[in-house]
Amino acid sequence: MNNQPPTEHEQCGCKVGKTAARYELADLDTDLVTHWTSTGDDKLSTRQLATRINQRVLGSALESAGLRPKEGEVENIYRLLTDDEVSSGTQIQTRNELERDGVPLDQIESDFVSHQTVYNHLTKCLEAELKSPSDEEQLERSQEKLGALQNRTAAVTEDTVARLERNGIIDINEFTVAVSTTVTCETCFEEYTVRELLDERTCDCFDSGAE
Ligand SMILES: [Zn+2]
Ligand SMILES: [Zn+2]
Repeated sequence: MNNQPPTEHEQCGCKVGKTAARYELADLDTDLVTHWTSTGDDKLSTRQLATRINQRVLGSALESAGLRPKEGEVENIYRLLTDDEVSSGTQIQTRNELERDGVPLDQIESDFVSHQTVYNHLTKCLEAELKSPSDEEQLERSQEKLGALQNRTAAVTEDTVARLERNGIIDINEFTVAVSTTVTCETCFEEYTVRELLDERTCDCFDSGAE
């Protein structure tokens, strides 16, 4: 596609924007917003995004120096340079090797961004915001959580009764177990199963005249 609009980083003067321009990090802004605002497994924190940007910076610099990093090599070099767990001997050796290969390490490291910078870029330059879950999503999640809890209670109850029956401690024929939790308002004394309450979303106290 050649009719793309000018990329965001050409318009923003913050460090992330400048770094993205200098290292030609294509589609960086889209990538950042997608992962930051995701509610799925690909959700990344600003800390993780900073690492992601810095690894791309490093990768781009290695390629500019004529190196062809293999799969996973950029991540590994980044770790060797930045991880506190790496011994200083290993760190110095890594730096020496890179500098011998003509990689401008000092420049690269001063272009590395912090998670705070990423946060500011996302919220101020790109005006991205994290969506909090809607009422419906919260109700749905709560229902799933409580449903799972009830199923677990029912399963444990069934096992326990069956074991007592097998051991001849209690006598019962074929049986079923039902778990239901009720919530009672202490003002109107109306009693609801959890499901009813989540469906209706108000007790009798708030029901009259509402709408
Ligand atoms: Zn920016
Ligand atoms: Zn009430």
